[in-house]
Amino acid sequence: MARARTVGDLRERGYQRKSVKQELRDNLIARLRRGESFLPGIVGYAETVVPQIETAILSGQDIIFLGERGQAKTRMARLLTGLLDEAIPVLAGCEINDDPLAPICQACRGRQAAEGDAAEVAWIPRDRRYGEKLATPDITIADLIGEVDPIKVAEGRYLSDELTIHYGLLPRTHRGIFAINELPDLAERIQVGLLNIMEERDVQIRGY
Ligand SMILES: [Zn+2]
Repeated sequence: MARARTVGDLRERGYQRKSVKQELRDNLIARLRRGESFLPGIVGYAETVVPQIETAILSGQDIIFLGERGQAKTRMARLLTGLLDEAIPVLAGCEINDDPLAPICQACRGRQAAEGDAAEVAWIPRDRRYGEKLATPDITIADLIGEVDPIKVAEGRYLSDELTIHYGLLPRTHRGIFAINELPDLAERIQVGLLNIMEERDVQIRGY
């Protein structure tokens, strides 16, 4: 069946939004029923790591891999994308992959108000729903979470305008999987910023 191309089309087909964790859980259960591994090519973890990851996904947890170099931590994180749906609908052109039926960024809310059910839908495949960053001491909140973009302000937008926001890596992976490598190397202040996101489940950029 051809995929919906507009918001109205998507709604008509009865599209139901799902959280990423629900998606992972549903697809993991389907794999387990078929007796398939979700970590193809990973050897030796069948009795230890794999059951723990399964438990974490089934219970909807965030995951920390703790181990030595070369123990396939990054590889396992990347393989988790195999548990995402093949593609999900987003509002076309959105920087943060907004749900077409419940957009959160100002640009999309504006588009939704102006175009309604005719607003265009795009489909993003699972391999584009993964973000990864190697933590280094020089990473800033702007890189990871976001910041007001001085160029947009210079172009005449007011600081109080949400459209001046430049989104960092994390919001750009909205509705996907985000992995940070070598977490302890991240400045403490930024770790605290991430903790807030994981606890409160929202991203704040300059008060927005
Ligand atoms: Zn948007």
